[in-house]
Amino acid sequence: MRPDHGELLYEGKAKRVFASDQPDRVLVEFKNDATAFNAQKRAQLDDKGRLNCQISARLFEALEAAGIPTHYLGLASETWMVVQRVEIIPIEVVLRNIATGSLCRQAPIAEGTTIDPALLDLYYKDDDFGDPLLTEARVRLLGLVDAERLSAIEDLARRVNAVLTPLFASVDLTLVDFKLELGVSTTGQLLLADEISPDTCRLWDRRKSDQSDRILDKDRFRKDLGGVMEAYGEVLKRVQGVCTDPRNCL
Ligand code: UDP
Repeated sequence: MRPDHGELLYEGKAKRVFASDQPDRVLVEFKNDATAFNAQKRAQLDDKGRLNCQISARLFEALEAAGIPTHYLGLASETWMVVQRVEIIPIEVVLRNIATGSLCRQAPIAEGTTIDPALLDLYYKDDDFGDPLLTEARVRLLGLVDAERLSAIEDLARRVNAVLTPLFASVDLTLVDFKLELGVSTTGQLLLADEISPDTCRLWDRRKSDQSDRILDKDRFRKDLGGVMEAYGEVLKRVQGVCTDPRNCL
């Protein structure tokens, strides 16, 4: 179902953002488009939008219940979410509990090494530059955020990890790493934004020992492992087991 919405404000790789009838709220439509490697690899995956919207809504509600401020207000349909209007901070925050992916390509760290406390990496959110790794000095140089806000961002990201790691573990999923985006609301509040889904998290199934079979996230698409939507469906099924049904917000 397509809820009533206003003009298209922004279209990204996986979502569209529309105006609503209230200035401080927007509607987010989760798309079926899948992209990887800075959109060099593309596909349409039937049902991806619904699965990511449903997973994300439940995780946002679990985070909210744990006192973490998010942009999420409720669902408008199976694939649409109502969120607070925010200005997205152009920094992608990645938390790594287990070494894999770009970390192992860029540093001599063995795949699968546990990282405790988690490694927090910052990337500049800009596709033209290929989302490069940031340093604190570069954050300052580019004037992205001040030191106080950066510290608040890092604190929020670690709190998200502290809630999501045990939540996923309780349904036999290992939260390997994940990416967060944050925004500033119309009232100046720092909020967790974007989505939290198998597109943005690496999740390994503790019920499987095979290194490929256990992957339940976008790496199945990146590595052509097949069964991408079956994996996302399994994540939703498990998350449904520990999160309440998301509220509607119309
Ligand atoms: N990630 C993301 N969007 C990006 C880059 C990374 O959601 O633009 C997520 C990715 O799914 C993984 C984590 O951030 O859960 C760390 O990704 P990594 O830096 O290892 O990048 P990759 O190996 O995918 O290039």
